Amino acid sequence: MITPAGAECPYYFADYHRGRNKQECRLIDRTPDGGKWTPDHCSRCRIPRIAMANACPNLVLEAKARSGLLGLVKRVDVSARCTRSLETVKVPEIGCGLCHLPLNPEVRTEEQD
Ligand code: SF4
Repeated sequence: MITPAGAECPYYFADYHRGRNKQECRLIDRTPDGGKWTPDHCSRCRIPRIAMANACPNLVLEAKARSGLLGLVKRVDVSARCTRSLETVKVPEIGCGLCHLPLNPEVRTEEQD
C-alpha cells in the first residue's frame, strides 16, 4: 500500500471504506516498545527502500517510532536480524551475506573470458 509519503510499503495499512479513517504501521505496531506511530513517520522511514532492495525471507525487521524535541521531528529507528545466520544485519538493504554470497569464482571467470 502507498504510504502518506508516497512510497510503497508492505507494512502500511489504511482503510477509508464507508467512513472509516484508519491508518496504521503494522511493523511498528508489532515491534516491542515500538512507540506511537503517526503518518508523519513514513516520510523519514527507510523500510520501503529496504523492502524494495532486499526480499530475503530470513530477514526480520523491527522499527521503532521516535520523536525529537517537542515531538516535531519524527524518525523511525530500524533494526534487522537474520533468522538463518542469527546475526544482526548492519545493512538491511544488502543483507547479512549468508544466503546471497558473491558469485562463484568459476562463474565469474567464465563471464570475464
Ligand atoms: S513508518 Fe515506515 S514501515 Fe511504517 S508504514 Fe510508514 S513507511 Fe511503512
